[in-house]
Amino acid sequence: MRIKAVVFASAISMCAFSSAWSQALIPQSKLQEQERAKQEQLKQEEAAKAEAAKQSSASVPASGVTTATAPSKAPIIANCTNPNALGVSRVVAIDTTGGPGFGFEHFKQLDFLRDKEVVLTFDDGPWPTTPSVLKSLDEECTRAIFFPIGKHATYYPEILKQVLAHGHTVGAHTWSHANLADKKMTEDMQKDEIEKGFSAVKWALGTEPAPFFRAPALQHPPAMVTYLGERNIAIWSCDMDSFDFKASKPETVIKTVMSKLEKNGKGIILMHDFQKHTAEALPELLKQLKAGGYKIVQVKAKAPVQTIAKYDEEVTKDIKLPTVSSRPVSSVVETISEQ
Ligand SMILES: [Zn+2]
Repeated sequence: MRIKAVVFASAISMCAFSSAWSQALIPQSKLQEQERAKQEQLKQEEAAKAEAAKQSSASVPASGVTTATAPSKAPIIANCTNPNALGVSRVVAIDTTGGPGFGFEHFKQLDFLRDKEVVLTFDDGPWPTTPSVLKSLDEECTRAIFFPIGKHATYYPEILKQVLAHGHTVGAHTWSHANLADKKMTEDMQKDEIEKGFSAVKWALGTEPAPFFRAPALQHPPAMVTYLGERNIAIWSCDMDSFDFKASKPETVIKTVMSKLEKNGKGIILMHDFQKHTAEALPELLKQLKAGGYKIVQVKAKAPVQTIAKYDEEVTKDIKLPTVSSRPVSSVVETISEQ
């Protein structure tokens, strides 16, 4: 015990000595300058701490939305190996009771984003382009909301499972991407599209998705807004459309998103994991978001959607499995050698 204490004390004095020795070689004016810089840094750190405390006490900006994680210095995304990652700055949980609407293009009541905050959303998957989108988001340790099409979910259930496994939030985007405002659509047909979409996503994931709905072409007939409200499903329009489905190259997607964000200062961005250009644009787009000082908000639901049994059965009947086996491809076919 005694020996240890002596070693410890001598270690301190060695430090003090080496510091005094190294300072002796530096001119006095330089030392004063260093001291001033140190004081300034301390002042800035104090100010940052005060600002963080202020923000945490104001973490309930809109009804139905709460910050799910208490602000702390620990990173939200665990095991992030990229020190310069865009990351996730805040996680919010949505109480979908009564079907709140989000996205200023249609719903202006709930403004939950702070300045420079962004929510990334991807529609129309799962598709073979989706894994590349997941890879880019992973590399930047960030998270998004995905709105898959029911039919696509039945084509690529393994890809949709990956979306969930990578920590993203999954909602639904109808069964067959039908325009709900089409004159040929009866109210029953509109409901079928919504419900079968959720049931198909549930079938693919093996678990209930979030009660988050995005309408194809952002068309929301008033009767469906009411219906979704009764079903406690949140409706997600957007603040900015990337128009990535119209873009002929990735650069256009990046330019559109960045210039719209510059104008709006924050927002829910609509993109498509189904689009090749978007998948290609994503690594650079995420870098530019980080460089522009934007922060990603991860959005979760407080409770999963409750699907309707009739539609769950309909989806199961529709999926004509070639054999009685329902095992995933990965457990049936294994690569045993590759060049
Ligand atoms: Zn769509």
